[in-house]
Amino acid sequence: MQYDHILIRYGEIALKGKNRKTFIIQLQNNLRRQLKSFPDAVIKRTQGRMFVLLNGHDPDQVMEKCQHVFGIQSLSLALKVQNDETEIKDAALWALKNSTDVRTFKVSVKRIDKQFPIRSQDMNHVLGKHLLSNTTGYTVDVHHPDLELKVEIRTEATYITSSVVPGLGGLPVGSSGKTLLMLSGGIDSPVAGYLTMKRGVEVEAIHFHSPPFTSERAKQKVLDLAEKLTNYGNQVKVHVVPFTKLQQHIFREMPEKYGMTIMRRMMLRVSERVCRKESILSMTTGESLGQVASQTMESMNAINEVTNYPVLRPLVSMDKDEIIKISRDIDMYDISIRPYDDCCTIFVPKSPKTRPVREKVNEFEAQTDFSELIEEAVNGIEVITLTGKADEEKEFDDLL
Ligand code: ATP
Ligand code: MG
Repeated sequence: MQYDHILIRYGEIALKGKNRKTFIIQLQNNLRRQLKSFPDAVIKRTQGRMFVLLNGHDPDQVMEKCQHVFGIQSLSLALKVQNDETEIKDAALWALKNSTDVRTFKVSVKRIDKQFPIRSQDMNHVLGKHLLSNTTGYTVDVHHPDLELKVEIRTEATYITSSVVPGLGGLPVGSSGKTLLMLSGGIDSPVAGYLTMKRGVEVEAIHFHSPPFTSERAKQKVLDLAEKLTNYGNQVKVHVVPFTKLQQHIFREMPEKYGMTIMRRMMLRVSERVCRKESILSMTTGESLGQVASQTMESMNAINEVTNYPVLRPLVSMDKDEIIKISRDIDMYDISIRPYDDCCTIFVPKSPKTRPVREKVNEFEAQTDFSELIEEAVNGIEVITLTGKADEEKEFDDLL
């Protein structure tokens, strides 16, 4: 016997009307995409939940992929059997014996098919007795069991599920529009991207690259991070902006203390241009309050002035150790700490202004014409689309 289904619960109660339908279709599409390396797996919708029919694929491997999909509340491995007392007994016994760390259990039968001759309550006893008399070391605990064995007798078949595994929660990626993630290669911005995706937002990324001051390896690091983000959603398009000339101009012409503020304003201006072109309605950064000079309230105020697009900052209230924890959990940390310089670290002034003033920045910027340099940067953008293939190829290599 082997688990042949995965039951997916998606907490739809919070969603109503049209939203619910969009949500469910998006979730099913996203699941299909995540499971593309399991060609025989089939995703079915039934009232208020989904099933993945494994058709011979390894249950644990498929489960692992499903656990990367936003919009899933919880998951369980399930066995499908005929509505037949003996088959149900055998399957329940198998499920109990194949659970780990279980000493106490409880059986919960739900009889939806009223044609089935044994009523729910009676079936609870029948199965409980069967399990106890065919095993040793287990006891029944109806209040706090280690395992609740759920048996759902539906018209088409009976499903037996054992432990409930938490999903990632959130909303299916693609159900809340798209954002342009400013992706630096540090620890914070990939986490910000992940958290935005959690709320159903699709992500495109923009990276400011300053060769030869920043290396190819620094760029590759950003692409590797973007590749990781595809594990949680669709493909990720990365816009790589040639930023050297703009940065050199800023640091040659602008007062050193204001260099950081002006550089960030240029980044936002270029990002807004990309948003317009790609019909993206917001930007996202990895800023958190108080971390560094550019992340004071005054600084955010002075930087944000150049755009009226919403700038999402999912990390704004988080401590660094909370951010690092997420970064490790989503397997980004080791990439983020690769020691390659970012354009911000190379051109960083010795003592940047921590309380920049809008009026001053505008005065400085008015002394020189940046429009051509911005235009050149926008025109020089290289677009790289990551599809998540790299991971699959790696998995394939491992098999050889
Ligand atoms: P991170 O860990 O994401 O690099 P940080 O703590 O180093 O963040 P800053 O250097 O102040 O913070 O950058 C703030 C935000 O600006 C980043 O989180 C990122 O969203 C954006 N950013 C900084 N540098 C770049 C870059 N080279 N390309 C794209 N976005 C950038
Ligand atoms: Mg950084």
